[in-house]
Amino acid sequence: MTIDYQQILEDIHQEIQPLLSQGKVATYIPELSKVSPQHFGMAVYCLDGRSYMVGDAQQKFSTQSITKLFALSLAFEREGNAIWKRVGREPSGNPFNSLSQLEYERGIPRNPFINAGALVINDILAQRFVQADIAVLQFMRMLSNEVKIDFDREVAISEEKHAHRNSAIAHLMKDFGNLHNPVDSVIASYCRQCSITMTCLELAKAGSFLANHGTIPWSGNKILDSSSAKRLNALMLTCGTYDVAGDFAFRVGLPAKSGVGGGILALVPGELAVCVWSPGLDPAGNSLAGVMALELFTTMTARSIF
Ligand code: GLN
Repeated sequence: MTIDYQQILEDIHQEIQPLLSQGKVATYIPELSKVSPQHFGMAVYCLDGRSYMVGDAQQKFSTQSITKLFALSLAFEREGNAIWKRVGREPSGNPFNSLSQLEYERGIPRNPFINAGALVINDILAQRFVQADIAVLQFMRMLSNEVKIDFDREVAISEEKHAHRNSAIAHLMKDFGNLHNPVDSVIASYCRQCSITMTCLELAKAGSFLANHGTIPWSGNKILDSSSAKRLNALMLTCGTYDVAGDFAFRVGLPAKSGVGGGILALVPGELAVCVWSPGLDPAGNSLAGVMALELFTTMTARSIF
């Protein structure tokens, strides 16, 4: 049965309207608080190259923690399984910016999608590249075939000025010997990485290699082998939506990575990547309308990994 994705996106857009006023835009990065919670965009990028969009799908937004997926992909591609000596693979069950487990787990973050884990990945990339943030930016440009993708300097500066919690995490890991570069340079690089702005369509296209066994569908360029791509999909499912990854799997049933800018990138392996953006967040920090939109998407299309 062929699926009318365009019609489904339009139906979802209608249905989520009442939710747009219910989420709360992130304020702990002051620059992000300037964005209206009324935005909603969604884009589907199919592995055969077709794409479908609705609403603000071509408006740039702050990708934030979604960049953790691309930084991890790049580090995994370069370093292979060596990265698992420095970061775990278990859901944390704690907020993404929590410090509490780091102390008794001796500076080894639970997974690469919480802030502690992403700081370690950034540190690993800094050993390989002149600047980790620029390496991630160039990787995301290459994957989406969009050379104009860039950092948002205001957002990066705004986050760096308020990065006390992330700095505390980095200092604790440094004390345990799990950060090799200076704390300040890792924090600055991480904040720039998180400030990358992209559209739903660009992100869906950039993430599509992970729905395609690690190979970029539009170029045939292999980034990861299929076993590695499988592992990253598994991490997205178990750890990609913070401390509510279980509920997200229950409601949506897809590997996904979210960010506090209100974006969520999700994958239907073997078929497509879908990205949704709506800046109003739920208490866990996931886009409130975005999670509902993805739940409707898997319900209406009968597509999920289960
Ligand atoms: N830059 C944000 C932070 O470190 C990213 C968090 C997120 O998107 N969950 O707090």
